[in-house]
Amino acid sequence: MDASSPPNRRTLVATIRDYVEQLREEGMEGLPAAASGAARSAPTAPAPAADSAPQAGGSGAALVPTELFSKYPGLEKSTTLDELRHFIGDCQRCKLAPRRINLVFGVGDPNAQLMFVGEAPGADEDARGEPFVGRAGQLLTDIIERGMGIRRAEVYICNVIKCRPPDNRNPEPDEVAACEPFLFRQIDLVRPRAIVGLGSFAVQAVLKVKKPISKLRGNWHDFRGIRFMPTFHPAYLLRNPGDKRLVWADIQEVMKFLGMPIPRRGGSAS
Ligand code: URA
Repeated sequence: MDASSPPNRRTLVATIRDYVEQLREEGMEGLPAAASGAARSAPTAPAPAADSAPQAGGSGAALVPTELFSKYPGLEKSTTLDELRHFIGDCQRCKLAPRRINLVFGVGDPNAQLMFVGEAPGADEDARGEPFVGRAGQLLTDIIERGMGIRRAEVYICNVIKCRPPDNRNPEPDEVAACEPFLFRQIDLVRPRAIVGLGSFAVQAVLKVKKPISKLRGNWHDFRGIRFMPTFHPAYLLRNPGDKRLVWADIQEVMKFLGMPIPRRGGSAS
């Protein structure tokens, strides 16, 4: 190519991709919204008064993830949860795949106002292909149905990791990295008004913070302009039933924000 002639489209795209990949490796997670209005892929709702809203970019401009930053090109083209599930397919992108029975995508109302995000499927969830159906899941269902007074089917429930880690060990960083783009796309597609993060693993994975759940819970945080409430995981509550009152307090905050009536005998989930 003559140095004075403009690069062709393919060269230009490859150069930009290389540059963006380099930025991503350096830790950048999106493009400043103010400088990339045309590239915006996610609507930006006003951010709540969050006590730990991560503000990358220094200038205060929100960073908007774009297709250029996608780990999986084409992912952002899925415009419904069904399309996203189709995109994920018979996933072999991480080392959890060979031992899973079912990939556990998520359940509930695709237009839910409220989304619950847990850690990863356990044995019951792996067997049934549905999140939160074991003992911890029964407690979550009680929190939703007996505590909040709505049906489980009215919310959306999923996990950070879609396949069961062996022996229910914690998911490893490479597994989170492989799977979290699917969670983030799920959140973009459901676009709930609020998200409840269940347990330290899910909360730390979504908010990219290291603080323990005991310090994070009970306060609103921000995830891409969506209110995010961390609370204890139901499995933790099975071991520490005395802390159910704290979870109920967190859930009541969420209900207040959503304008839901607080049932008089709420919090009776046992
Ligand atoms: N624990 C989770 O975090 N998710 C499930 O789906 C089940 C148990």
